[in-house]
Amino acid sequence: MPRNVSILGVTGSIGRSTVDLIARDPDGFAVEAITANRDVEGLAVTARQLRAKVAVIGDATQYQALKQALAGSDIEVAAGSDAIVEAAGRPVDWTMSAIVGSAGLKPTMAAIRAGATIALANKEALVCGGDVVTAAAHENGVRLLPVDSEHNAIFQCFDHDWPLRVSRVILTASGGPFRSANIETMRHATPEQAVAHPTWSMGTKISIDSATLMNKGLELIEARHLFPVSAEQLEVLVHPQSVVHSLVEYVDGSVLAQMGTPDMRTPIAYTLAWPERMATPCERLDLARIGRLDFEAPDEQRFPALGLARAAMVAGGARPAVLNAANEIAVAAFLNRRIGFLDIARVVAGTLDAYDPPAPESMDDILIIDAEARAHAEQAVVRLN
Ligand code: NAD
Ligand code: MG
Repeated sequence: MPRNVSILGVTGSIGRSTVDLIARDPDGFAVEAITANRDVEGLAVTARQLRAKVAVIGDATQYQALKQALAGSDIEVAAGSDAIVEAAGRPVDWTMSAIVGSAGLKPTMAAIRAGATIALANKEALVCGGDVVTAAAHENGVRLLPVDSEHNAIFQCFDHDWPLRVSRVILTASGGPFRSANIETMRHATPEQAVAHPTWSMGTKISIDSATLMNKGLELIEARHLFPVSAEQLEVLVHPQSVVHSLVEYVDGSVLAQMGTPDMRTPIAYTLAWPERMATPCERLDLARIGRLDFEAPDEQRFPALGLARAAMVAGGARPAVLNAANEIAVAAFLNRRIGFLDIARVVAGTLDAYDPPAPESMDDILIIDAEARAHAEQAVVRLN
């Protein structure tokens, strides 16, 4: 029997890598729903390629365009953010959650409530709604399998039966394109320079987050929700080659690491096949050719986003949701050339100073905090101009 799967954010970087794996085994998978935000053409081509049951475009004004693009097929068509949530809630065995940003929270929650195993790439959903998401997963008996390479590595190395034997969890970071840049270079960095990641090819937003190291900050919070570890046990280590994807240290001093070439199809395949393994076409790791692996401590002076995220993680409550929303606004403002590269962390810090709501207790609370934090961050952007 083929496994029923859905892919949320199918036109993105993670979405396309997922399609690549699934398309190699047409008898192994039956595709239920695929979703995208605005890329009608990409969505329609993928819907035909995978023979999906339903294709949903987030931008409601694109409904007719999608209908036309899929004319003559028996693929169902829908549009709008509610339609994405509805499609995400259709019963399947496995769902790839790969929408970018807090926009992925409601669809991810719908997939969890429908009981699918979740391959979780959408880290912002965990950052802004971690407690609600993990509680829903627990209630519905749903496994959250981390796609993020670091968390996938930790998942593979972590002793899930005996978590008290783990003493530290060390997330590696490539350091991004400005790892060894001076502060003046960073001040004048353009979106083109910031998006040019040295080792990974990824979507725009996460590439900017990698350049500010906010990505690693979001990942600390993500790890806190995915694994039974304290904030003090979580560390960040810069490793420019992106070969060691993360490490788990045990009380006896043993350190386990997962390694591989930087290709997201490896962690995606891990979540697709789990608890089995499947073959992938990914390039094999050739350590003799790489020759050396380097490690260094992160520079929190040049990369203040890391400290902001760590503080939000320790404080908990609404802080991670405010941090995440402010960062989404700041990254968009930087990409639109409204603010400079170093202003991204300023907008986030300013928003955290200006807005400190009580801890959310429900998904509705989170969505309100997310919206209000965005409005505060927007004001911070305007003040910088
Ligand atoms: P991307 O920008 O390439 O793709 C995002 C996808 O989400 C697209 O399909 C887009 O249509 C959809 N989308 C965007 N906004 C939406 C909205 N408002 N409503 C509905 N759909 C929307 O992003 P990506 O790099 O594939 O990243 C996806 C997620 O995976 C992010 O949370 C990212 O942090 C995480 N992640 C990505 C990588 C990577 O290598 N790309 C690695 C680790 C984690
Ligand atoms: Mg990562």
